[in-house]
Amino acid sequence: MVVGAGVSGLTTAICLAEAGSPVRVWAAEPPAQTTSIVAGALWGPAFQEPASQTLAWMAQSLRDFQELARVAGTGVRLAPVLAVGELANVDELPPQADLVPGLRRCAPSQLPPGFTHGFRATMPLIDMPRYLEYLLNRLSAAGGEIEIRPVESLTEAAEVAPIVVNCTGLGARELVGDDTLQPMFGQHVVLSNPGLDQVFVEVTEAEEWTCFFSASPAGGLRWHPGAGPLGPHTRPGCDRADSAAMPDDRAASCRRRGPRDRHRPAPRPPRGAARGRAPGPGTLRA
Ligand SMILES: Cc1cc2nc3c(=O)[nH]c(=O)nc-3n(C[C@H](O)[C@H](O)[C@H](O)COP(=O)(O)OP(=O)(O)OC[C@H]3O[C@@H](n4cnc5c(N)ncnc54)[C@H](O)[C@@H]3O)c2cc1C
Repeated sequence: MVVGAGVSGLTTAICLAEAGSPVRVWAAEPPAQTTSIVAGALWGPAFQEPASQTLAWMAQSLRDFQELARVAGTGVRLAPVLAVGELANVDELPPQADLVPGLRRCAPSQLPPGFTHGFRATMPLIDMPRYLEYLLNRLSAAGGEIEIRPVESLTEAAEVAPIVVNCTGLGARELVGDDTLQPMFGQHVVLSNPGLDQVFVEVTEAEEWTCFFSASPAGGLRWHPGAGPLGPHTRPGCDRADSAAMPDDRAASCRRRGPRDRHRPAPRPPRGAARGRAPGPGTLRA
């Protein structure tokens, strides 16, 4: 039994179902209403400990997404990325940087005004609405089933299945009383895309930052202005992209489309520790 139908729950359920286990998914909300659907979503370095494990996970997920980018209909592609910002220790990059494909420093002339450091790379970019649809189809083909059903305790799930995997995202805060999970709010604005291909990511220790994700012509340009830990907030002028941050003149012509901006909390685990734990048989832990 997998509890949760965001990207973690669907991926877990697919791995189990394709390995031959009968799998059910219980979720309070369907994939289209999860945090997962509004993610940018860029594969990127993870800095959680233990680094020996998280580096291996990073490398594996990079291989998986590179392979998915070769399969039609997954919503995954390899995109040019420009990451700029106040990067501490730019001369001494962490070991995670070695895994980022094609990572190279920008020449000063390649940087937008106001930024002193930047890197270019080629990273997997995932159009989440399409990717979640792909995962749903793949789960269904492997025999997995989803039921919309909120659970009040993991014991409820353990009564019907010998193994329960908790993939409830931020819901785990209430479900297992884990106060260390902190919401981190992001503003998500879908804009028309006049042909921008590059992903723009601001890397900073500041409380707010901006990203542009050029999902696909159909998916538009996904703009995340003012993402940060403080709580929901709206930047004025969200009808137009903040072209000052985007080093491409065409950004000024982007216009908001679709429904109103959505504020979505994303789980924010403590930076120091990975959250996956496998309890011994017969125990119920999350
Ligand atoms: C604006 C924004 C941009 C982001 N960009 C990126 C990015 O570029 N790259 C990246 O890696 N990450 C990004 N993230 C973070 C990413 O979206 C999340 O880490 C990820 O989607 C979490 O997925 P999940 O499956 O763990 O949780 P969720 O997507 O939150 O799914 C949780 C599931 O559990 C269910 N659930 C919760 N409680 C219960 C309960 N009691 N009973 C039953 N079901 C329950 C929910 O209904 C849902 O189905 C971004 C997030 C935001 C908000």
